[in-house]
Amino acid sequence: MIVAPKIRGFICTTAHPDGCAQHVAEQIAVVKRGGINPAGPKRVLVIGSSTGYGLSSRIAAAFGSEAATIGVFFEKPGEPDRCGTAGWYNSAAFEKQAHAAGLYAKSFNGDAYSDAIKQQVIATLKADLGQVDCVIYSLASPRRTHPTTGEVYKSVLKPIGQTYTAKNLNTTTGEVSDISIEPAQGDDVEQTIAVMGGEDWEMWIDALIAADALAPGVQTVSYSYIGPEVTWPIYKNGTIGRAKEDLERTQAALDKKLAALSGKAWVSVNKALVTQASSAIPVVPLYISLLYKVMKDDGTHEDTIEQMDRLFRDRLFGGDPQPDEAGRIRVDDWEMAPAIQKLVGERWQEVNTENLKDLADFKGYQTSFLRLFGFGLEDIDYSEETDTAVSVPSIQ
Ligand code: NAD
Repeated sequence: MIVAPKIRGFICTTAHPDGCAQHVAEQIAVVKRGGINPAGPKRVLVIGSSTGYGLSSRIAAAFGSEAATIGVFFEKPGEPDRCGTAGWYNSAAFEKQAHAAGLYAKSFNGDAYSDAIKQQVIATLKADLGQVDCVIYSLASPRRTHPTTGEVYKSVLKPIGQTYTAKNLNTTTGEVSDISIEPAQGDDVEQTIAVMGGEDWEMWIDALIAADALAPGVQTVSYSYIGPEVTWPIYKNGTIGRAKEDLERTQAALDKKLAALSGKAWVSVNKALVTQASSAIPVVPLYISLLYKVMKDDGTHEDTIEQMDRLFRDRLFGGDPQPDEAGRIRVDDWEMAPAIQKLVGERWQEVNTENLKDLADFKGYQTSFLRLFGFGLEDIDYSEETDTAVSVPSIQ
């Protein structure tokens, strides 16, 4: 098939297998530049391992400390006449590269919120690795079916209390205009907490403890975001922010449960970056476009792989996690640096459709978005036929 991008709003419904493989290869090269960290993890479970921060976590562990990895994700395989999802192609490419490097890598494609997947993953983990010394929890989903009640919860991105009006970027046309988002209603907050809060993370850790699948000194990490005040009504103080507060509550609870193993639970606050999840949040893409420009000019711009490499190498397994006053790891530190935020804040006030190209890195935003789906990578001839029925080696 000849595969071209098909963008519908904030998603791309096609993905290029060779481009995704190239994207994974580039991430591996970033990690390899730092060499092997002998203190890094050796057996790692990544829940949400196929795209964004989870994929980069898996790559950072495998190629930064030669870790055996088990990945869990929810993706669609490709067929001869139909594209699979980018996460499927990323996982196929990751496994091939990991196996070529002599590393153990197995993957599970299914609903991580279900008991069935937890049991399948843990059975393989026990049989193949015995225990793991690191568990990364990096799910981002619009819905969750509760494993015991069967209730389907839906996560929403809304402010709480009052309507939020702010500048918004149409990431297809480059138009900047005001958007008004109605506040959460009914049980929107509870629904969002049920999907993106900590309950499922805790269920995973409980199931792993019950199976004696966590090694002494195990570390588990879940990801959060705080960001600047301009985005607080839709993020930190909105429905998703409530879910992230719940993640912090869970972190404290897991810390207690893991104490017997001398283990530790963390919330890591990561940088705002273009991923499939973040592109769905109103207002945030404009902030990201402004941020990319300022951070690229400053020489401190990182993508998910640099963020996760720094998290693993320097913080989690470098002996210096540098927790903030609330005990969170902050790899958003360069994003939140006062000089960066001052400039982004000034440009936020000024930005409009006419000056977007000068004040923001809109091109960079669009390029990053397309790369998530394997488009716009060098060395790929997009006019050529490609095999879309790529397999993930460990998945039959
Ligand atoms: P993403 O959309 O790139 O990745 C989501 C992952 O979850 C994919 O691997 C997907 O397959 C998996 N997934 C979704 N539903 C699943 C299910 N039911 N079963 C199994 N797997 C499932 O998202 P991301 O941006 O990398 O987000 C990961 C985490 O990082 C989230 O907690 C997010 O809030 C956090 N975070 C993101 C940003 C950002 O700017 N993107 C910043 C800070 C923190």
